[in-house]
Amino acid sequence: MSRRKDWDTYFMDIAYMASTRSQCLRRHVGAVLVQGKKLLGTAYNGAPMGVPDCYEAGCMLAEDYEVRIENGQESVIKKQRCIRTIHAEQNLLLFTDRIDREGSSVYVTDQPCWTCANMLANSGVKEIVYHRPYPKDSEKVSLLMQTRGIIFRPIPSYEPPPNTLTEIIN
Ligand SMILES: [Zn+2]
Ligand SMILES: [Zn+2]
Repeated sequence: MSRRKDWDTYFMDIAYMASTRSQCLRRHVGAVLVQGKKLLGTAYNGAPMGVPDCYEAGCMLAEDYEVRIENGQESVIKKQRCIRTIHAEQNLLLFTDRIDREGSSVYVTDQPCWTCANMLANSGVKEIVYHRPYPKDSEKVSLLMQTRGIIFRPIPSYEPPPNTLTEIIN
């Protein structure tokens, strides 16, 4: 048995390393762009350059409502999310070129939200690999990827490198 890391582990590890740069107090997300086996970009969620980040200015919280159906019972849950940061996937798109993205893969620590998924669907990327689930938008995002013919796959058996994890407030 080879002890060499497989490519999924290798690139997801890099996405987790990138996520440690995030200064958001609520969520650290990292994303990388891969063409063939070549790394073409790394990104994490953060405030625009030169703008105070969550660590300095606190998270900018917005309230959100999530409909949940459990055992046929529908309930509405109020949630807070931070809107100060540009999401990792969006930063990745801002800092890479269209031509590099055509037919590429994105590795992202967290399943993309609806807005990021929608942007990725139009970015030239042909595969999205993620680790932590994000149930809120999961169904509509999966359907979008299916419609668009983009491979959308979790790697459930993956384990992030030590010291790259932060507690996530949901
Ligand atoms: Zn924040
Ligand atoms: Zn997002």
